[in-house]
Amino acid sequence: MKKVAIIGGGILGLTLAYELSHKGFKVTIIEKNSDWGGLASGFKIGDTYIEKYYHHWFRSDHDIQELIKELGLEHKMYFPASSMGIYIDGELHSFSGSIDLLKFKPLNIFNRIRAGVVSLYLSKSKYKRSYEKIKAIDWARKYFGKQATEIIWEPLLVGKFGKKYKDISMSWLWARIHDRASSRPNPIGKEYLGYMDGGFQLLIDTLVHKLQEFEVKLVNNTTIESYRKVENKHEINFDGKTEKFDIVVSTIPGPIFNKLFPVNNEFKRSVDNIKYIGATCMILELSESITPYYWLNINDKKAPFLALVEHTNFVEKQKYDDKIIVYIAKYVDPEDALFKKSEEELFDLYCEYLPKINDKFDKSWVTDRHFFKSPYAQHVVTTDYKMPEYDTNIEGLYYANFTQIFPHDRGTNYAVEQAKLLSKLIDSKHGD
Ligand SMILES: Cc1cc2nc3c(=O)[nH]c(=O)nc-3n(C[C@H](O)[C@H](O)[C@H](O)COP(=O)(O)OP(=O)(O)OC[C@H]3O[C@@H](n4cnc5c(N)ncnc54)[C@H](O)[C@@H]3O)c2cc1C
Repeated sequence: MKKVAIIGGGILGLTLAYELSHKGFKVTIIEKNSDWGGLASGFKIGDTYIEKYYHHWFRSDHDIQELIKELGLEHKMYFPASSMGIYIDGELHSFSGSIDLLKFKPLNIFNRIRAGVVSLYLSKSKYKRSYEKIKAIDWARKYFGKQATEIIWEPLLVGKFGKKYKDISMSWLWARIHDRASSRPNPIGKEYLGYMDGGFQLLIDTLVHKLQEFEVKLVNNTTIESYRKVENKHEINFDGKTEKFDIVVSTIPGPIFNKLFPVNNEFKRSVDNIKYIGATCMILELSESITPYYWLNINDKKAPFLALVEHTNFVEKQKYDDKIIVYIAKYVDPEDALFKKSEEELFDLYCEYLPKINDKFDKSWVTDRHFFKSPYAQHVVTTDYKMPEYDTNIEGLYYANFTQIFPHDRGTNYAVEQAKLLSKLIDSKHGD
């Protein structure tokens, strides 16, 4: 049996281990954290797991739905109605569908209709290679118009990508609108997003359990201390010992990969060319609801956060001991002062801003809070974006993570798709 080491136990690493162990490889996963599941992992509120970063699925997420079925969890998946709003200039506007768009006062009536027609076009049309070299902001100005770009798209791009917003490729905007559209069965009706009873953690725990059945070695709380290739074996130092593998697959973010693995300069550059942006996510447990929406975009460049995601307007609050659960989320450059602020400082900043959204909000509503942040939450898809290869220059060492799912935005579905693709590639090259 060929021995494979997978570095990183997020959805990609776990699913790849699942696929490769089915194909007869002897797999070890090495994960830095105590929890499995990476960005999709959860923690408990009451007796129920909830994600550290807000998560849902789209209808078009076929690969993950197939995996869920294969794991016997289909009956746990469901598609509640989602609702969306936008906060602009002190007002909340419903933004859940075409009727809301037609009533959306910040745009004049011509631009409302235009925004609907252009969005419908992007959601129905196929991907165009020409989008790769076009800046999303320029495309938006040309087709959505100046007013809709300033009110809707520019704040979204700034909120997500900060200073780099002007360089974001149209490929990213197409994928964002196109992939999501599948969750609205009727273009003028509601959107339905996928969730799992037991949270994404149930999927992660079930995967881990299956891996144990397949005798995959699961090593958590461990990073690799050193790596070297000796003849045709890969020697990895971890957990105070050295072990030899035939194949190594790294699923960790690019900057960490480049520090650990002695790939050549050309490969290092292809990894380095892709920049990441970090994310902070504060989860408030509240006694009162802040907004009537699941998802509220904050279209105010001065706001200390980009989105307020009231999870219990999507999943019933009874699951969380009747608590209202709200994510306060912001994408931030890890070098930015905001990323370095303490949880306490951010909480004070948020509490200062929240009365703008709901003037009755009071700090005393918050009964508990949780805080997570990651410096590698999102890759920055600029017009010069070039995906690194899976194959590195070191035979048997593979590089894989969400920077290679272009043009789609990162998501658990694509981690599963990638795992299937990689397992086929590895099997075809190294299988018996
Ligand atoms: C704010 C936010 C919202 C999201 N919303 C959604 C959503 O709604 N729906 C959806 O499907 N997806 C969503 N995602 C994306 C989804 O979580 C990820 O795309 C997916 O989980 C990626 O999985 P991965 O395994 O590729 O990466 P990761 O989850 O990043 O896994 C990498 C793993 O490597 C580990 N690691 C890092 N360094 C080392 C090291 N040196 N040694 C060993 N291990 C290491 C990490 O601890 C981690 O467990 C969201 C992500 C974020 C940040």
